[in-house]
Amino acid sequence: MAATRSLPRIRKRISIRGVVQGVGFRPFVYNLAQSLELAGFILNSSSGVTVEIEGPDGAIEQFLQTLRTSPPPLAQIMEIALEEVSLQNASEFSIQPSREEENAFAFVSPDVAACDDCWHEFGDPANRRYGYPFTNCTNCGPRYTIIQDIPYDRLTTTMASFRMCELCQAEYEDPKDRRFHAQPNACPACGPSLVLVESRQHNRDAHLPAAADFRATQRSSLATVQRARDLLHVGRLVAVKGLGGFLLACDAQNDAAVRQLRQRKRRSDKPFAIMARDLAEVEKFCTVTAADRIALESPRRPIMILERRPESNLSRSIAPGNDSIGVMLPYTPLHYLLFSDSPTESSQFAALVMTSGNLSEEPIVISNEEAWQQLEPVADWFLFHNRDIYMRADDSVVRTFDGRERVLRRSRGYVPQAIDLGAPMQDLLACGAELKHTFCLTKDHYAILSQHIGDLENYETLCFFQETLANLKKLFRAKPQAVAYDLHPNYRSTQFALSLPLERKIGVQHHHAHIASCMAENHLQGKVIGVAFDGTGYGTDGKIWGGEFLVADLETFERRAHLRYLPLPGGDAAVRQPWRMALSYLRDAFGAGRLPAGSQLLQHVPEKQIAIVDAMIARRIHSIETSSSGRLFDAVAALVGLGSEVTFEGQAAIALESAAQPGVEDRYTFHVEDVEPMQLDVRPMIEAIVRDLTRGTPVGLISARFHNTVVAAIVEVCQRIRQQEQLTRVCLSGGVFQNMYLLKRTVKDLDKDGFQVFLHALAPPNDGGISLGQAAIANAILRREQE
Ligand SMILES: [Zn+2]
Ligand SMILES: [Zn+2]
Repeated sequence: MAATRSLPRIRKRISIRGVVQGVGFRPFVYNLAQSLELAGFILNSSSGVTVEIEGPDGAIEQFLQTLRTSPPPLAQIMEIALEEVSLQNASEFSIQPSREEENAFAFVSPDVAACDDCWHEFGDPANRRYGYPFTNCTNCGPRYTIIQDIPYDRLTTTMASFRMCELCQAEYEDPKDRRFHAQPNACPACGPSLVLVESRQHNRDAHLPAAADFRATQRSSLATVQRARDLLHVGRLVAVKGLGGFLLACDAQNDAAVRQLRQRKRRSDKPFAIMARDLAEVEKFCTVTAADRIALESPRRPIMILERRPESNLSRSIAPGNDSIGVMLPYTPLHYLLFSDSPTESSQFAALVMTSGNLSEEPIVISNEEAWQQLEPVADWFLFHNRDIYMRADDSVVRTFDGRERVLRRSRGYVPQAIDLGAPMQDLLACGAELKHTFCLTKDHYAILSQHIGDLENYETLCFFQETLANLKKLFRAKPQAVAYDLHPNYRSTQFALSLPLERKIGVQHHHAHIASCMAENHLQGKVIGVAFDGTGYGTDGKIWGGEFLVADLETFERRAHLRYLPLPGGDAAVRQPWRMALSYLRDAFGAGRLPAGSQLLQHVPEKQIAIVDAMIARRIHSIETSSSGRLFDAVAALVGLGSEVTFEGQAAIALESAAQPGVEDRYTFHVEDVEPMQLDVRPMIEAIVRDLTRGTPVGLISARFHNTVVAAIVEVCQRIRQQEQLTRVCLSGGVFQNMYLLKRTVKDLDKDGFQVFLHALAPPNDGGISLGQAAIANAILRREQE
């Protein structure tokens, strides 16, 4: 100490922005300052953390160096501002109370999976947290889902009602402890607890547990989970309250249980996600690459889309007609305990189905009361806890491509992490689209993308949108000056935007937003070729677009090519019944008269229905024109006999992709008509597919040839645009590019041809990414106006 004291001293103020609250930053800085014998203080502010540090120049340099190169694992430093201030001859380093500043905002951490240290503690019979499902520390645990306001302190979370016991309080106050200022800190003596209740379906005397019931089970969580495990083991369906909402669980190898869950949840063939105990189990069911492994085990713990091993003995009802499966690892101690008491003990099952606790398309259920009412027809048992969930968040869904994680549904573990856009933004709200809805707020250089809200097709989902908007505006101190919205007049998000008391409202074309979203996350400026392939988007001509080639920058776009328009008989009915679109394509290619032999339509659809839809197409009744590529995939799937009816959009296309035979290189022909905009004409392909069907060509081969044709068409149209515009950058966006067969080949062939290809990674390629693109476009337009 004496030696450093004699050196000349300086004092610096360091303002740090990024995810620095609730991630163990203050104890880290405290310990670092202590070890370097530096004086000063640290405090949480509404914009991040402020540190003042005093001591010899060299030690301060070393302090800054460590801060930059090895911050705590969950911290994400986005900006560091330095300022020299006057010496105060301080002798100690201290942690000071949080400070609120006007209009400032901090980055709130997403929820984080249990860390290794906590993992060991709750699995260790000698530890006081043995078997405790709510074990957490500053390096892990709930965040976004329990935070009601900033600065992040226990009193502004749903943990406020739990009073820490003496042991927990001591940890909380000790800067050297892993639980120093761990706001959700808890133990079996003082924290949340579990109650297991049978559904009223089976037991009319069962009741929703009251506060006293939770107090009574305070110290017996382990026994409660064991009981739930036994129920799962014998095929029961259990609603489990988790981090961002309730999940419905059953044994993934018990086909009867899985089928029952599907039947009770009603309506949809949507794939269920599964949770496996550990990586070794996942590898028994699926092919896992090195990149997959990293994403699976990351503290975000998303659902990963993986290729299912054909020999796996999981119930086929988990993901009907799909050769991929969504898999995640346990992310809270509670999930882990559903498999076994400790890491050394064997599990009663290899994997559990874990699907969102909701009915059909309603938002995921979060409160015990909601679950008790809404999930009664589905669950046999309820595993409740008494830590309230403040923000709903579904599990996120990702896959890897080209060695990099790509988000398909961005929610728990990712939200509300800001996306750095690399350029200053106005304060905006972008209201998104309709399906897979998200919205986006912008501030400084950042986009704050909401969690996946769902399909805005019912009142409950609209409420979820509004409650999340209110919350994110509060957390980020956002006061949007303008709003961006989709051009579709019937989208609820559009109607909501138009009802806001804001002067400036900017309508954005759907596919322009897709491309701008891809540009924004890749920090692209200037013009690009944008290929936007999806199911539905409202065009500037009032038609339904979806097979679009744009030349776009962030302000404007030109539509340079698209799939030829065809009638969409019955609008939304054609989305649920892909055979209608198949008929539309057949009539387009072959004209009126007898349907060509070979097409599978007549085998799956009654002639009478075909006659009705035929008339609709011929007379253009309820048949708006569409250039949708999603509908082209539907049509081909129905033509070859895969899914003439579906329960969710994309289902037929997934079946078609799953059928594609690997290693096929040939393709069908197509034609590009050189008008403005260019017309992509696939009639020659439809004729050839029918010919192949007549010859009895295997569906897998037809599917591969079809995909190859779409790839070739994309490359050819891009080449023509490049010739006219000298553009080589191509952005691929839209839900159709979730098709891996299509994506892989398109990227490979464009790349081979000298194009520079940009894809999504941070925002979803589907409509979940639309709001980001809308924000980027509105921002560019407003900036231009201000110049
Ligand atoms: Zn931890
Ligand atoms: Zn305690």
